[in-house]
Amino acid sequence: MLSLCRLALVANSQKLGARCLGSILPTPQPPDIVLANEPVLSYTKHSPERQELEKVLSEFSNSVQDIPIVIGDEEIRTDQVHYQVMPHNHAKKIAKYYHATPDLIKRAITVATKTQREWERVPLDTRMKIWLRAAELMREKYRQELNASTMLGQSKTVIQAEIDSAAELIDFFKIHSYFVKDALKYRPISPDASVTLNSMRYRGMDGFVAAVSPFNFTAIGGNLAYTPALMGNGVLWKPSDTAVLSNWTIFKICREAGVPPGVVNFVPAHGPDFGDTVTASPHLAGINFTGSVPTFNRLWTQVGKNIGVYRNYPKLVGECGGKNYHFVHPSADVDSVVAGTIRSAFEYNGQKCSACSRMYVPQSLWGEIRQGLIKERDRLKVGDVQDFSVFTSAVIDAAAFKRISGYIEYAKNSSHLEILGGGVCDDSVGYFVQPTIVQTKDPKDRIMTEEIFGPVLTIFVYEDRDLEETMKLVESSTPYALTGAIFAQDEQWARRALEEFKYTAGNFYVNDKSTGSVVGQQPFGGSRMSGTNDKAGGPHYALRWASPQSVKETFVPLREIDYEYMRG
Ligand code: NAD
Repeated sequence: MLSLCRLALVANSQKLGARCLGSILPTPQPPDIVLANEPVLSYTKHSPERQELEKVLSEFSNSVQDIPIVIGDEEIRTDQVHYQVMPHNHAKKIAKYYHATPDLIKRAITVATKTQREWERVPLDTRMKIWLRAAELMREKYRQELNASTMLGQSKTVIQAEIDSAAELIDFFKIHSYFVKDALKYRPISPDASVTLNSMRYRGMDGFVAAVSPFNFTAIGGNLAYTPALMGNGVLWKPSDTAVLSNWTIFKICREAGVPPGVVNFVPAHGPDFGDTVTASPHLAGINFTGSVPTFNRLWTQVGKNIGVYRNYPKLVGECGGKNYHFVHPSADVDSVVAGTIRSAFEYNGQKCSACSRMYVPQSLWGEIRQGLIKERDRLKVGDVQDFSVFTSAVIDAAAFKRISGYIEYAKNSSHLEILGGGVCDDSVGYFVQPTIVQTKDPKDRIMTEEIFGPVLTIFVYEDRDLEETMKLVESSTPYALTGAIFAQDEQWARRALEEFKYTAGNFYVNDKSTGSVVGQQPFGGSRMSGTNDKAGGPHYALRWASPQSVKETFVPLREIDYEYMRG
């Protein structure tokens, strides 16, 4: 298209006797990318993937990997030494890592900010090719390292690791690149491209991006750091202390794929040291955060306090907590309610941000649903993730164990609450909390309104005649709006619920569980206190990390100052 424009403008400018410069903007040549999700492997007994994974699990569980801070090209080790342990066997160390001091964080800011200008000049097409190479390394060469480090370090079962640290991570790298390629098709209106050509180009942001990631999804760490990097940014990546090994694996893969030193700097640090230092820098261009509400609020407040310091208004993207619900209508299919709720509430120990933790059930279905939930809960095997028959494993660390067991203790002592199953906590070997089902008489009890982030499901049983009133509770009970699901066969009611519950969830499910979003299928994120709803895995996400520039090129020079109407 551009060359046609050029021909036309040459003709036009010759006619008008003007000098012709032609468009100086390069034409992007993005690589071919197929919009399809990475298939999830089965890991059945004797499958090649299972055999390979078992080998890596055995190797990783019998070693302590040494993980440096990496700033630019330099590997650094400080005297702030920490260890990552297996949550399901906390005597066992799997990684030794180091916290960066505030001075080192400042050094990383300088390196990322300087590198950004060089990196940004690497054409987007070339960057995309590196991302696709990284996705390929994740798919083949390093798949089982990603899975083993996630299984052992974050206590995920094989299926939970595979959908996270393999499939979702690969999808983020590939599908976000696809969406960027798609965005490049946009051309601003040029009424006569032979006279004036309008274009938009996506620059990296001036400064650096701080990526602060949570423990619960390896893929989220990769996305938070590397999607801004794809768009031409310089990044400081602060992984969670309890996900260092898997996050380090991603970092190494990306370096092997060709991401130059200094583009992403790997900076494990004490959270407040990191937050305080990055928010004090004039070069802060953005924060890409996923984690809890108090941490994000603190970062946002610090940015507000320092607003006069910055060269740019920092972009703040945060995905935070939830109090996700399943709402059951009297017309619901009981079996799917039971299966969906058990999976949503207890897979990965309720430590998915989308996990169901409150449920509303009509009295007319309660008998059947209660029986189904208790029966299925009693069958769940909890243990070491290297035992492939377990359904779930330990919670992430001592702090999580204390918080979750605190809620269970509270439930045991409350006259409003009854524990229907589970309720046993034991941290002698690993941080084990049995999947726990609680029934509440009070729909606004704190156990129904606060994020627990553990395997605790609370159910409020409503009288069928109180359906309308109960529906109102969904929105009024919590400050969150992350995920929610309705279960119903009554189409008319389902349509109404779709409207009534519109602002209760960023990801809404009809006759399906509230977890399990897939990149490119259900872009993810919530509003209210659940975050800024920027929808990772969707078409607009990567563009959040670009600073677009509009370029107008005029090929026919302006020679007149007066307008025609002025000449009478
Ligand atoms: P967290 O807030 O404790 O930690 C998140 C990250 O912030 C970690 O890397 C931590 O070290 C860092 N941090 C802590 N204090 C900091 C500070 N003052 N400045 C800068 N960084 C700081 O959260 P977590 O326990 O790792 O993750 C669980 C939370 O994440 C839950 O609330 C969950 O709902 C949420 N989450 C949300 C989504 C989503 O997409 N909405 C996805 C995953 C997790």
